[in-house]
Amino acid sequence: MANIRFESVRKVFGKVVAANDVSLEIKDGEFMVLLGPSGCGKTTLLRCLAGLERVDGGRVFIGERDVTDLPPRDRKIAMVFQSYAVFPHLTVFDNIAFGLKMQNRPRDEIKRRVEESARLLELSELLGRYPAQLSGGQRQRVAVARAIVMQAAVLLMDEPLSNLDALLRLQMRAELKRLHQEIKATTIYVTHDQVEALSLGDRIAVMQNGRIVQCDAPMRIYDYPANKFVGGFIGTPPMNFLPGIVRVNGNGATVIVGESHIAPAPAIAPALAAKNGQPILLGIRPENLALAPSQQANTIRARVRVIEPLGSHKLLTVQVGNEISKVSVAPDEHVALNDEVWLHFDPEKIRWMDAATGEAIR
Ligand code: ATP
Repeated sequence: MANIRFESVRKVFGKVVAANDVSLEIKDGEFMVLLGPSGCGKTTLLRCLAGLERVDGGRVFIGERDVTDLPPRDRKIAMVFQSYAVFPHLTVFDNIAFGLKMQNRPRDEIKRRVEESARLLELSELLGRYPAQLSGGQRQRVAVARAIVMQAAVLLMDEPLSNLDALLRLQMRAELKRLHQEIKATTIYVTHDQVEALSLGDRIAVMQNGRIVQCDAPMRIYDYPANKFVGGFIGTPPMNFLPGIVRVNGNGATVIVGESHIAPAPAIAPALAAKNGQPILLGIRPENLALAPSQQANTIRARVRVIEPLGSHKLLTVQVGNEISKVSVAPDEHVALNDEVWLHFDPEKIRWMDAATGEAIR
């Protein structure tokens, strides 16, 4: 069993609290992504698990073992880093075999395991080459093969794709997903790329300022961000936010956004009614806004400022009052620059946030 447990892990560098009482449990065989902007503490958390940093507080468990005070080599973890650092003077075979040789494994076992890892990473034809004779993507595959050949129950990856060009990243992303389905090692994967996180993770832990602000399945995080930060970090383009005020009248709660009255979905109406008179944020994703032919229920007036044809869809930048929003429409939608349009909100798709705290209202 290689489930992983962080219990109130704290790591401080001078005045910076890089991990602020982080508690997180990762199930055996799970693919967990740590996602967040630069400096939020993702790598620090990974390094605390690997034993490359000493924690200042809390405990770290792998399976039932408390590994908090164990040196890295006793934690039975394999790692792949952004700078994949393959040895230039060793062939692909010897690069992959390196860790096993250090363990003085028998020669035939090394050969068998290297060949198996090479097969999984589609490197079988390249075992005799040197890193200088490989493409960037192939070199990164060698780094991954070198980690998985150790058959560690826990695999840590820190931005492993960020040195690759866009097309290769896409390809390697799918390969890593397939690989995980085959080897099923408990995996923690650090990235600041939200698309990578959505694509790969069984769950995503979103970090901000040394804390985990939300941990859930990718589509839960996408559809129900816990706060404005998460909604604004995930999605390209991110969630739109428009300011409004809650008003309760005989019919229950409505939200006044500019000159429009938006009726919240029935399930959320009581929670909104409790905020009568308070400023609030209406959060909506670009694909959940539609152009309406005229003013009607749950619409708001906007002016088209930019039109970007993106092949599968058209991205509109629109001005709503003083705010800018993004709207994704069909590629053949008829719309012209500076048109005044009506945007329709599906109340079920609106995520309401407290304007003062940014926290989702549920
Ligand atoms: P990135 O995506 O840029 O790698 P990250 O989320 O992985 O960012 P960390 O590398 O964990 O972030 O850093 C968290 C915070 O701790 C940052 O403010 C960073 O400057 C600080 N920090 C990390 N390592 C050290 C160190 N060895 N000495 C001092 N400060 C550090």
